[in-house]
Amino acid sequence: MNFNINIDKYRNLKRSMEREMINLNPIQRAGVLPIESKKAIYEFWDGYSVCDYCSGRLDKIETPPIHEFLEDLSKFLNMDVSRPTHGARESKFIVMNSVCKEGDYVVLDSNAHYTSYVAIERAKLNYQEVESEGYPTFRIDPEKYKETIDNLEDSGKNIGLILLTHVDGNYGNLADAEKIGKIAREKGYPFLLNCAYSVGRMPVDGKKLNADFIAASGHKSMAASGPAGILSINDEFADSILKTSKKFLVKELEMLGCTSRGLPILTLMTSFPHVVERVKKWDEEVKKTRYLVKELEEIGFIQLGVAPKEHDLVRFETPILDEIAQKDKRRGYFFYDELKKRKIGGIKRGTTKELKMSVYGLSWEQVEYVVDSIKEIVKSSL
Ligand SMILES: *Cc1c(COP(=O)(O)O)cnc(C)c1O
Repeated sequence: MNFNINIDKYRNLKRSMEREMINLNPIQRAGVLPIESKKAIYEFWDGYSVCDYCSGRLDKIETPPIHEFLEDLSKFLNMDVSRPTHGARESKFIVMNSVCKEGDYVVLDSNAHYTSYVAIERAKLNYQEVESEGYPTFRIDPEKYKETIDNLEDSGKNIGLILLTHVDGNYGNLADAEKIGKIAREKGYPFLLNCAYSVGRMPVDGKKLNADFIAASGHKSMAASGPAGILSINDEFADSILKTSKKFLVKELEMLGCTSRGLPILTLMTSFPHVVERVKKWDEEVKKTRYLVKELEEIGFIQLGVAPKEHDLVRFETPILDEIAQKDKRRGYFFYDELKKRKIGGIKRGTTKELKMSVYGLSWEQVEYVVDSIKEIVKSSL
């Protein structure tokens, strides 16, 4: 048989980013695997590798200890029950699909991730945005949530869910979940906290933040290969989220029986000890981020979002880079190019007006190297 496919391009695929470069891409910084997870991959790289001792459901498997892991995760997040998913987006969809009725409104912040909107659409729901304060802080005011809910109620709309992006991927703002959760509770609506950018990086206490549901991302923030995520819920919603099939009595419907069944859940689990330890050092990460901001603002970068930073994702306006790009024959690519020469990667190619970066998990020495390199590039280009 001749399929007329050139299969050679699939051989020897390589990636040297994390080995040879300092990667500043915010979506990748907290998804770097610790060595113990890299070792575990050798044991579990085959398909369905975690299912050797399964008696019907992923979350009940004892060898490897998935069942205990989920209980420990619930303690870690101060929630009641946890399930693995394929990512934060799947966790959000599961919540929407099981606690809302078709056509219900989801109230969400205007900094929400595109996956929140896509999940809403797939679950056949409507949404109403709570506008941020806009440029330059893009802060979400909790009182605006209250107003938005009141307005929807006054116009006779049915609200099914309140959703908040705990830390957003545009500005790295840390939203006031506790207050917004309290508003949701007082109004009697379930509250979903999207922790894709927070759980695994910083301490998150679900009960303190008044969350009914937490969506987390393994590959974004929990040092896992992924795709893998977590959905943690409070007991009150266990019946609706964890309902089982009528035909296959042990299979949970929203999980389509089982979700992450192999390496993704495995590395999530083997990286957990590393994650538990690193969230204790969150203050140090914030210090590194503030240092980065302070240093780069000296050369004309302008930090967007709430200041001072409370999260490692930083978005800068960079008029100075734009100015240099006008004169450089490489145009917008000069910055990427110069960084690459210095073994720094993860900054979008060709963009000079704005950029996002994170130094999460880098040593102080590396952070200083990044700062010095950027300063040198800018100063020598002027
Ligand atoms: C990255 C991101 C997501 C998507 O996470 P997945 O685990 O890939 O689904 C969702 N929300 C926010 C705020 C994100 O930054």
